[in-house]
Amino acid sequence: MKRHYLKAIAVFLLICSLTFIIFIKINNAFGVLNHGETYPDNENNIYSLADYHWDSNNHTFFIDLVRENEEQQLELIYAKLPSDISINGTILNKVSSSFSRVLINPDWFKDNKVRVVFNTNINPRHTPVYLTTTSGASAALSAYDMVFAFNLGITFLMSIYGISLYRLKKTEKYLLWFAIYAGALTLWSALPLFIGSGFKLIRYYAYNWCTILNIVICFKMFDINLPRYFNILLSKWGVVGVLVVWSVLETIFPILHSEICNYSLFIFSIGALIYACANKRKGAWLVLSGHAISQGMRMVMALPYLIRIDVSFLLRSMQYSKLFNLPFAFCCMLLINRLFAEKFTEAEVLAKELEQINHNLDKKVLEGTKALEEQHKRRHNFMMNIFHDLRTPLFVIQGSTQKIANRPELLNEELPIISERLDFTKHLVEDLFLMAKLEDKQVILETEKVPLTDLLKNIISACSLEGESKGICIKTELKCDYITWGDEYRLKQAFQNLLLNAIYYTKASGHIYITSRKQKNFAVISFEDTGIGIAPQDIDKIFDRYYRISGSGKHQSTGLGLSIANEIIQQHHGSISVESKVGYGTIFTVNLPIIS
Ligand code: ADP
Repeated sequence: MKRHYLKAIAVFLLICSLTFIIFIKINNAFGVLNHGETYPDNENNIYSLADYHWDSNNHTFFIDLVRENEEQQLELIYAKLPSDISINGTILNKVSSSFSRVLINPDWFKDNKVRVVFNTNINPRHTPVYLTTTSGASAALSAYDMVFAFNLGITFLMSIYGISLYRLKKTEKYLLWFAIYAGALTLWSALPLFIGSGFKLIRYYAYNWCTILNIVICFKMFDINLPRYFNILLSKWGVVGVLVVWSVLETIFPILHSEICNYSLFIFSIGALIYACANKRKGAWLVLSGHAISQGMRMVMALPYLIRIDVSFLLRSMQYSKLFNLPFAFCCMLLINRLFAEKFTEAEVLAKELEQINHNLDKKVLEGTKALEEQHKRRHNFMMNIFHDLRTPLFVIQGSTQKIANRPELLNEELPIISERLDFTKHLVEDLFLMAKLEDKQVILETEKVPLTDLLKNIISACSLEGESKGICIKTELKCDYITWGDEYRLKQAFQNLLLNAIYYTKASGHIYITSRKQKNFAVISFEDTGIGIAPQDIDKIFDRYYRISGSGKHQSTGLGLSIANEIIQQHHGSISVESKVGYGTIFTVNLPIIS
């Protein structure tokens, strides 16, 4: 983490210094006129005045301007004069901002030389006073007006842009703060237009308001919180409070209005941005770079006092039009654009995903409907079979009883038929009832220790008669005795259904292999037969309670045996799987959890 902070600080310092160096280089390309030097005959050159001389008799500083020829009409451009400045005894009007120009009266020249006097004890070296020709002054001032208007227009548009976006997306509070910041910049930049109109106070305070709002948006843009209750300062009323308190303090302590103090305030916004970069907040590097450029430009305005560089007209124009705020504001706007573009992309991706989900849903609904239709069809068929199966024995029984009524001597012959049909009907009704109860989880299973090998042996001996009657050989390979926890009666029922199916669906003289083994904590019991097998298209449906493969009605088929077995095994936390090949045979494998 520390490394990330150092990296952000290094990047900031690097960009800031580079900006500073570039602007100082540009500045140095402009000319400087020293005391007694001749103004060259170049129409549009603007020279900063330097090298003022001290007049110890009058306690003033002065500079002698020499023109090249008598036709040359020279003008002074000046702004923010700290003291009276006079040319040939004529005192110039003081302005508090922006530029003024004054034509140096040709009559004031003596031998092409005129003296500009500063009524001050302090060297006016950095006073913004520039010498140029009449047309040079016009060009310079219109260039300044353009830069001024450009800055004003851009900050105003940024403010409108921020507000419009905020109206569209009120949850993004940083948009509002950006709009307020850009609005404050517009106000601050526009105030020179109102010089002398009584807006002086606002102009005085706007300087630091912009800085405080700059700090606020650095925090807001990257969702940075201040520790504990200090965070209240970043709330709406917190910010208003800070602005008001700061203005009051500024009134009481004018030192707070100084550049030093204003520049120190930027430590907070720079700190916030470094924090945002170190914590990988989206777009933090972009805004940090913009801020570094803005600060580099501010340094160019501030440092010439310390490093004794003459400030060119270009840099002064930049300073008075507040152009140095733009790189930061511009990068903030870029970030806002980026965040919005990302939101649009996100929305697009979501819309596509939604479309896909809808599509899948439609597909699923169709599949579901189809499955329901199939189930309904199967249920219908099943019901029809059940009705048929219930009706058939009734007809048989009715026929037999009529026969007995007509011819009582047939009683012994018809009784087994009646008994067999009644058995089937009872079996069917019991199965239906059991299945319904199992599905509704109404069957209360006993929980006792069940030795599986004994249970299997019991079933085999119970069904051996059925097998023998078909000449089927039942072979077993039951490895040691596994104990499971469950209901012995129901488990017997499940296994019996599997074994009886194997016998029923195996041709005469076929084989059945019953094996058991242990796999992890499960007993694996399989019933393998050499019967007719199950077709692949039927294999998924055989556990369905309504499913009976057509043509399997060779025995008293109810279509419920496997469903009952499956329900019982599942309620014992086990599972049944099936593998089959038509004409070769089928293997049903039961997995049951065991306790030893
Ligand atoms: P059924 O009373 O019809 O046997 P089941 O639920 O027990 O009902 O079985 C469903 C269907 O699965 C049967 O109709 C049969 O076609 C098929 N089936 C079950 N066991 C076997 C097996 N061992 N070999 C071939 N087919 C089987």
